[in-house]
Amino acid sequence: MSDFGGQGGAGEAALTRGAALLNGDAPASCLLDGPLDPCAIVIFGASGDLTARKLIPALYNLFINQGLPEAFLVVGAARTAMGDEQFRDKMREALGRHQNLDEARWPEFARRLHYQELDYDQDDSYAALAQRLEYLCREQGVGGNRVFNLAIPPQLYATVARGLGRAGLAGEERGWARLVVEKPFGHDLASAEELDRAIAEAFQEHQVFRIDHYLAKETVQNVLLLRFANAIFEPLWNRNYVDHVIIMATETLGVEHRAGYYEKAGVLRDMFQNHMMQLLSLIAMEPPSRYGADRVRDEKTKVFRSLRPFPVDHVYDHLVLGQYGEGRIKGKPAPAYRAEPEVAGDSLSPTFALMRAFVDNWRWQGVPFYLVSGKRLQAKRTRMVIQFKEVPHSLFRETLGEHISANRLTLGVHPEEDITLTFQTKNPGARLCLRSVKMLFDYKQGHEGPLLDAYEKALLDCMLGDHMLFWRQDGIALTWSYLDPILRRCESCDQRAGRLHVYPAGSWGPPEAGRLLPAWPGAAQ
Ligand code: NDP
Repeated sequence: MSDFGGQGGAGEAALTRGAALLNGDAPASCLLDGPLDPCAIVIFGASGDLTARKLIPALYNLFINQGLPEAFLVVGAARTAMGDEQFRDKMREALGRHQNLDEARWPEFARRLHYQELDYDQDDSYAALAQRLEYLCREQGVGGNRVFNLAIPPQLYATVARGLGRAGLAGEERGWARLVVEKPFGHDLASAEELDRAIAEAFQEHQVFRIDHYLAKETVQNVLLLRFANAIFEPLWNRNYVDHVIIMATETLGVEHRAGYYEKAGVLRDMFQNHMMQLLSLIAMEPPSRYGADRVRDEKTKVFRSLRPFPVDHVYDHLVLGQYGEGRIKGKPAPAYRAEPEVAGDSLSPTFALMRAFVDNWRWQGVPFYLVSGKRLQAKRTRMVIQFKEVPHSLFRETLGEHISANRLTLGVHPEEDITLTFQTKNPGARLCLRSVKMLFDYKQGHEGPLLDAYEKALLDCMLGDHMLFWRQDGIALTWSYLDPILRRCESCDQRAGRLHVYPAGSWGPPEAGRLLPAWPGAAQ
C-alpha cells in the first residue's frame, strides 16, 4: 500500500497510519504508526440502537486493540434521563450481548464514558454540553479535538448541526471538530441539498464525514487494490470482455424495528442511493493518478455523472420491484411485510428491487449493471459478479457438443469474504469433456492480526481525518439526481400496486426478476 502515496498534508499522514494499522504482521501493541490526536467523541442519540449495537462496541474494540488515542473520552448525549453510571451499565450490558467483554479492561474503558442529558432543539442544552466537555477534557487532558456523531433520527440532523454551530462547538480554533452523519442523506435530491445547506451553516465540507459503512468493509476496500495493484485484471475490465456486472446485497432479515423509516423509504432509498451506488462506482471507476481521498472520490463522481438517465417512460422494462409475502426463512415461518408491526396493511413500499443501469462512457458502453437488493430472501449475500463474455468461437464444438460457460470473477463481501474465479478445465478421463472449476481466495487467509469491523474503520478514519471511505456531497447529489425521476415515476404510477410483485419470504424474489436478469436467482451459487 505504501506504493500509492498520499495527497500530502493531513490526508497523507492519515493514509500512512491507516495502512500501518491494517498490517497483518503488526502485533496489537503497535497497530498505529504514531499516536492518534487526543479527542472527545460526542454521540447524539446515545440512548438508541446504533450507539449500543455499533458505535460503543466499535470504540471498545478499538480501545482493546490500541486503536484509540491515549487521551480520549466519550460523551453520550440524548433526551433520556440518565447519569454516567447508568449509561456505563447500559453500554456494558449491550457489549456483553454482542461480544466477549474483557472484565479486566472494562473499568479502564468505562471511566471514559459520560452522559449528558440534552434537548436537541434547546440552545441551553448545547451550552451545557460545551461546558461539560470543557470541564471533562481539561480534567482528563484531552485537549480541543472533537468528533460529533449523529446517531439520531435523520429529521434531527440539521437541528443538531445548527445547535452545535450556535454553541461555538463547530469552530476549529482550539482543535479540529468533525461531524459524522449516518445515512439516510435526505430522502430525495431537494431534501439532501437542504440538509447539506443546514450542515454547511456550521461545518465546512472538510469537517463532515458521511458514513457508508459498506465502504469500510475490508472486502469493499479491497476492490481498488484488486483492480489497480494487479496488472492482469484491468486489461479485461471493460466492454470488450465483460458481458454484464451484478451487484447484489440480499438479506434474510425483514424490516425488523425500522418499519417507521422503511415504510417511507423502501429499498431504493434505503440501499440504492448509498451502498449499491458506491459498489457500482468502485467496479466502474477509472484509476485515479494517486490513492488519495479526493482523487478517488473525483473518479467515483465521474461514474455517477456517467450513469445513463433512467428511461422513466419504460421504467418497468429496466426495474422490477417486489414486496415480501408470507413464507419460510430457514425452515421457520416468516410473516408478510404488510403483517409486520407498524406497517400499513396496504403498504406499497418495495422490499426488493432489481435494476438495470448503464454507465455511458468509453469503458462501459453497452454493458448492463444489474443492481439487486432485497429483504427476506433466501440467503444473506453481498457480492459483486463480473461476468465475462463467452469465447468468440468454440473449436471444441463438434467434439464436446456442449455450451462453454463464460468466465466469472466473484468478489464476495459478506458473509463470504472471498474472490472466486470460475473457469473451464478438461475433466480427467479418456473422453474430452469440460468442467467448470473455481479458484478461490479467502480474504482472511494468512492474516493473524486484528480485523477491523466497518464501524471501527470508519470511526478510526474520522479520527485520522481521512475522507477516503466517506461520501462527498457532490456524489450524494448526483446519485439522488439519478434516482429521483425513478422514484417519482414509480410512486405516482397508476399501476403502482400491480407493478409491485409479491414474493414468498425465503425465495429469491419475484419471478419477474428472472425476466430482466435470466442469471438470477441468487446470482449463481
Ligand atoms: P433510534 O431510533 O434508536 O434513535 C436514537 C435516539 O434518538 C433514541 O434513543 C432517542 O433518544 C432519539 N430519538 C428517537 N426518536 C426521536 C424523536 N422523534 N425525536 C427526538 N429524539 C428521538 O435510531 P438508531 O440508533 O437506530 O439510528 C440512528 C441513526 O443512524 C438514524 O438516522 C438511522 O437511520 C441511522 N442508522 C442506523 C442504523 C442501525 O443499525 N441502527 C444503521 C445505519 C444507519 P432520546 O429520546 O433519549 O433523545
